[in-house]
Amino acid sequence: MPNLSTIVAEIAAEMADAPDRGAVADYIAPLGAVDPRKFGIAVIDADGVCHGAGDAEEAFSVQSVAKVFGLTLALGAGGDSVWKRVGREPSGTAFNSIVQLETERGIPRNPFLNAGAIVISDILLGNRQPAEVIAELLRFVRALAGEDGIFIDNAVAAAEEATGYRNKALANYMRAFGNLHHDVDRVLGVYFHQCALAMSCRQLALAGRYLMRSGRNPSTGHSVVSPQRARRINALMLTCGHYDGSGEFAFRVGLPAKSGVGGGILAVAPGKASIAVWSPGLNDRGNSQLGTLALERLVQRTGWSVFEG
Ligand code: GLN
Repeated sequence: MPNLSTIVAEIAAEMADAPDRGAVADYIAPLGAVDPRKFGIAVIDADGVCHGAGDAEEAFSVQSVAKVFGLTLALGAGGDSVWKRVGREPSGTAFNSIVQLETERGIPRNPFLNAGAIVISDILLGNRQPAEVIAELLRFVRALAGEDGIFIDNAVAAAEEATGYRNKALANYMRAFGNLHHDVDRVLGVYFHQCALAMSCRQLALAGRYLMRSGRNPSTGHSVVSPQRARRINALMLTCGHYDGSGEFAFRVGLPAKSGVGGGILAVAPGKASIAVWSPGLNDRGNSQLGTLALERLVQRTGWSVFEG
């Protein structure tokens, strides 16, 4: 295999010339203002070396990638009882779909759908104020990455609240089934601010290292989650991390990964690398168009697919 820094730099150069970059999400106003030509990639290898290229240092709205960190915290707080309120099956539906909630009595198919992440926000809330939960999330992600500069973009959170009619509908619908235990506005306060987490590719790849290291943060040596839990989070990322595009993503890339409508993707090559890519243009399933292409090429050139022996 050629040198990893060379591969990463080549991919970034190829993406700069890509003709079809997809469409930037504009239903959350600040996301629509992001330059569609942005592209960043950061790969942290098994030795902890970061190989970055393009806009790898620029903070962007990680959006649904943050669902991985919210789920990790909720499993820490609630253990396996979380699975009484959220399923573990791919949905085959869009990230913000409501249809399955009727037949499945308010239990979302998986924690990476909006509905699932809203239930996770309810679990995280416990008896606390939304601001306390978000402070805990920030502390957690900063500790995972070993970086204090990670922040919540309050303008993004405010825009989500202003236009989040579907998320409000999902939350109210699940509350009607008894699967939200707290006031809908407080639960959504947690959810919208979690989505507004802003990180660079390098910070995101750093934060994801525990998932490539059987649950350990390699900087501190501390166990973040058990090896079994890390495996399970990776399994959910592989099967559900790209919504109704999860099968196609597994077919093309073959790595556990979680996307967000900000155009970011966190991908894990277990034992080999933690990878973050960012390109704001999305495909028709709401997943980063060039982010997916870049990961496809990275896996082709490194042999890192989990399906490759
Ligand atoms: N904040 C976005 C929403 O709730 C998150 C969706 C996503 O990233 N797929 O619609």
